[in-house]
Amino acid sequence: IKPVVAIVGRPNVGKSTLFNRLVGERVSIVEDRPSITRDRIYGDSEWLGNPFIVIDTGGIELDDQSTIKAQMRYQAQVAIEEADVILFVVDVRAGLTNMDRDVAELLRQSNKPVILVANKAENNQEAEMNKYDFYELGFDDPQLISAEHGRRTGDLLDKLIEYF
Ligand code: GDP
Ligand code: MG
Repeated sequence: IKPVVAIVGRPNVGKSTLFNRLVGERVSIVEDRPSITRDRIYGDSEWLGNPFIVIDTGGIELDDQSTIKAQMRYQAQVAIEEADVILFVVDVRAGLTNMDRDVAELLRQSNKPVILVANKAENNQEAEMNKYDFYELGFDDPQLISAEHGRRTGDLLDKLIEYF
């Protein structure tokens, strides 16, 4: 049975970009999965001979703050219930936000392994400087990546498969 990896984080940090990077053309909406809903997308991926399933939990576009909070809680719940490993994505250019703190708190309540992913790290200097903001979330050293440009995603995947 394939390990399940959930991508979680506040809106606009690059979850879907990372999902597409990991899954490429292999997106498969698994219709016979009883829990499938339109607000999460499943895809197949593989790294160094290790197949796994990826869930992009942030499928719905929301605008008002209270709904976003509810969505965050729901995402975290999905991730905690369904995932073997959680990729918690933050935006290293924007820095730490209260919404990141909220997500972090929910994820800490699970016993699932969480990999903190600091996305949008094209500018090394900026990323190295800003990454310390995220230490207060209580996870390991953030994995600096650029999902959009595919930078350092290999290092992230190397770390990910250690949890399988
Ligand atoms: P989601 O809401 O978390 O799913 O975020 P999206 O994947 O939709 O991305 C939100 C915005 O961030 C889009 O404009 C992306 O093009 C941009 N983005 C995603 N990844 C990166 C990245 O690695 N670097 C930069 N600079 N922008 C990114
Ligand atoms: Mg998205």
